[in-house]
Amino acid sequence: MITIQNYINGEIVNAQSNEYLDNYNPSTGQVYSKIANSDHVDVDAAFQAAIIAQPQWENTSAEDRFRVMNKIAELIEERLDEFAKAETLDQGKPYWLAKNEMRRAAQNMRFFATAAMQFASESHATENKAINYTLRQAIGVVGCISPWNLPLYLFTWKIAPALAAGNAVIAKPSEFTPMTSYLFSKICIEAGLPNGVLNIIHGLGPKVGQAIVEHKGIKAISFTGGTVTGASIASIAAPKFKKLSLELGGKNPNIIFGDADIDKAIKTTVNTSFMNQGEICLCGSRLYIHSSIYEQVKERLIEAVKALKIGDPLDDSTRIGAIVSKQHFEKVLGYIELAKQEGGKILLGGEAIKPDGFENGWFIQPTLIEGLDSMCRTNQEEIFGPVISISPFDYTDEIIEIANGTEYGLAATIWTENLTLAHRVAQRLQFGIVWVNCWLLRDLRTPFGGMKNSGVGREGGWEAMRFFTEPKNVCIAL
Ligand code: NDP
Repeated sequence: MITIQNYINGEIVNAQSNEYLDNYNPSTGQVYSKIANSDHVDVDAAFQAAIIAQPQWENTSAEDRFRVMNKIAELIEERLDEFAKAETLDQGKPYWLAKNEMRRAAQNMRFFATAAMQFASESHATENKAINYTLRQAIGVVGCISPWNLPLYLFTWKIAPALAAGNAVIAKPSEFTPMTSYLFSKICIEAGLPNGVLNIIHGLGPKVGQAIVEHKGIKAISFTGGTVTGASIASIAAPKFKKLSLELGGKNPNIIFGDADIDKAIKTTVNTSFMNQGEICLCGSRLYIHSSIYEQVKERLIEAVKALKIGDPLDDSTRIGAIVSKQHFEKVLGYIELAKQEGGKILLGGEAIKPDGFENGWFIQPTLIEGLDSMCRTNQEEIFGPVISISPFDYTDEIIEIANGTEYGLAATIWTENLTLAHRVAQRLQFGIVWVNCWLLRDLRTPFGGMKNSGVGREGGWEAMRFFTEPKNVCIAL
């Protein structure tokens, strides 16, 4: 059985407690590896290594930083199958999807490796009195905390800009999905990343995550996870005046107007609703369909979702894998019960399922629910599973108000062939990302993040490079 260990000061080491947590394969419900159960002692050891390594890393030429980060990207690509299989066994997602995500993890490393080469300071000529320029310097030692849904993809999305900007990093992947970040630590050694520049500490959120947030020497925290955890992190970090980037939950609307290209909208909506078992913060869990096409779209969507194969995540024809953990499986089933109590009619799914050969795994049928009020809990709270609510609407003003009527503001999708309507609605939706006639089409240069309870700050492109640097204004009198 593999033991997932920490990566500190360039070495793979046990947690100092010498204790381990169980790591489960969600498709079988069985323990298949052990995870270092670390605590603040390990975080502090990582910090001691990071604080020594950071100045030298910051002063390494941008080209050398590029080289080592690009090498890491190449090694992920070389071992794509090994990484994808590990992600599938750890997370429960289909293997073909894990492969896509591993490619994107490599892309994150390469994208920010090139950003290191192109990051530049601005200058401002102040009439004929002075020249100002902005130095953007590394912060020092920063903390990156990432969730279980897109494990290596979101892990690299954070650490890559932090490293590219010259920081040393202490990273904590989710205890539910530590395997690919463990493999990642091995390729960092192989790629020649200097010791202490990246440190990966495994263990429980309230122990390791909290120790990172509380650590006096760690000056910035980049966190992706649930809104409740984000609020707790903010309350600890704020009085310590740490820089904070929070990417939190969502309750995203997917709106199909009457003039939409229905074939395209239905095909994409199957993914928007159920890709990765609905465990993507950007999934659309509230589907609104114009009443003129409601029955037609509903029936066709039900047929399309019925065809999704549920089961063995390693089988290439599987579309719906396992839910990440027993506790999350029970939470999602609890929401289906709640939806029934709130008057929802289950159009499809609604039950746990035991695929042949995977009877002890945590699988849930993709579930469509109709007839719920827009303000009920099912339509307001993030479920983060293969469960969507569908409703008809008549008027544009009405649907904008309903779409905006949640505490969250991460992403919205709209379907229409009317360009004017698309622009007008996009302007009025209170979401950090609005997709028109597409979903999850990502350009890594664009700002990524949410409004309201979906987060604070933006990641992606220069936004991330700016987050991981301190701007300093230098003013020279002429
Ligand atoms: P959690 O908030 O439970 O955990 C996220 C990370 O924080 C994990 O590494 C977790 O560790 C750690 N953590 C838990 N408690 C603490 C604590 N007290 N202090 C510091 N760190 C802590 O989220 P999930 O892992 O359940 O992820 C799902 C959530 O993430 C959903 O709400 C989803 O919407 C959101 N998300 C947001 C995205 C965005 O970009 N806006 C993208 C993807 C997901 P451990 O798991 O080991 O306990």
